[in-house]
Amino acid sequence: MDESIDMSFAADDGPMLRARGIAKTFVLHTQGGASLSALSGVDLDVSRGECVALVGPSGAGKSTLLRCLFGNYLVSEGSIEVRDPIGSERRYVSLTRASPHEVMRIRRDIIGYVSQFLRVIPRVPTLDLVAEPLIARGIDGDDARERARAWLARLNIPERLWHLAPATFSGGEQQRVNIARGLIAEHPVLLLDEPTASLDASNRAVVAEVIAEARGRGAAIVGIFHDETARAQVATRCLELVPASTLACA
Ligand code: ADP
Ligand code: MG
Repeated sequence: MDESIDMSFAADDGPMLRARGIAKTFVLHTQGGASLSALSGVDLDVSRGECVALVGPSGAGKSTLLRCLFGNYLVSEGSIEVRDPIGSERRYVSLTRASPHEVMRIRRDIIGYVSQFLRVIPRVPTLDLVAEPLIARGIDGDDARERARAWLARLNIPERLWHLAPATFSGGEQQRVNIARGLIAEHPVLLLDEPTASLDASNRAVVAEVIAEARGRGAAIVGIFHDETARAQVATRCLELVPASTLACA
């Protein structure tokens, strides 16, 4: 149940997210097995209330790091651990050693992710799409949809759209649905891939506000913020990535 998630860690409990020596090499099987190093030697600690912005030129590995931190990509080297808010021990759980089942549990309870583009599920109404992460936690459907309505209203999604699937929505509307879905469950760790990229100024301001509120409740956030104004508004510090790529033939 959602209610059992305890965010009241003391500051000296250590970071919420701890990544050490992360390397990611892609092996291009369709291109003679060439390997491409996208990340190497990345260390990152993120504490409660922090928002770390990943910066660096295109191709530096920002999106790759975010995908590793969500367990979408297996790392080639290194370890990623997150603090588990469930239970009294407040132990770290390893994402890099987790079974697929445990990865699903970590995503339900600990790590929320706002991808750059909404993955549209055909025919699922927007309201249900946004309520789903709460329902997965065992929250009653009516309560979950009530909270989803509040998020959609806050993010300026017109009410006439709430019962439609977002496939036909504009890019900015889809992105705001994605943000509502990513933030509704108040995960202790949040990963945000360009959450403001296709928004107008007033919606960017709303999203900056909800990110600041997430920090205020103690979320540990890692994000990619294309636009410097948004980054300056929400980030507490930056982690600079440099392109690690060295193309080597295997
Ligand atoms: P950024 O988000 O900083 O622009 P990316 O993380 O998207 O950078 O990419 C970093 C490097 O890794 C790039 O050289 C990119 O081509 C490569 N890369 C990313 N994803 C893959 C993949 N799935 N397969 C092969 N190479 C990839
Ligand atoms: Mg990217």
